[in-house]
Amino acid sequence: MTSDWREHDEIIDPEVLCDRCEAVCCRLLVLVMPDDPTPRGYVAIDEHGLEVMARGEEGWCIALDMQRMCCSIYELRPQACRSFTMGAGDCRAERAEYAGRYAVIESKLLP
Ligand code: SF4
Ligand code: SF4
Repeated sequence: MTSDWREHDEIIDPEVLCDRCEAVCCRLLVLVMPDDPTPRGYVAIDEHGLEVMARGEEGWCIALDMQRMCCSIYELRPQACRSFTMGAGDCRAERAEYAGRYAVIESKLLP
């Protein structure tokens, strides 16, 4: 269960690697703080008036390099992205949720 995994955020799964991930965390709402070095051209204002990373039609952050599935502004990414640890609880939970969502869609497409 994803909620259980989030409770064990300190445990890092060494099998989980960004190189083998569809940049699942880059589909999340990412808050941009005033002191983040992120170029403001990548920032949008959400419905609550908060600065967030803008996302494209397919749901990924617009700073994601879609060819390589990696961050194109890595050195300038927001603190929120820096804090998201590969293989930790939130990472595992988001990946599981993403995998489950697309498995459901694929099964609906099957005859
Ligand atoms: S931190 Fe986790 S969810 Fe984000 S790209 Fe890496 S493996 Fe995927
Ligand atoms: S700024 Fe970079 S690391 Fe952060 S969500 Fe966007 S593409 Fe991902």
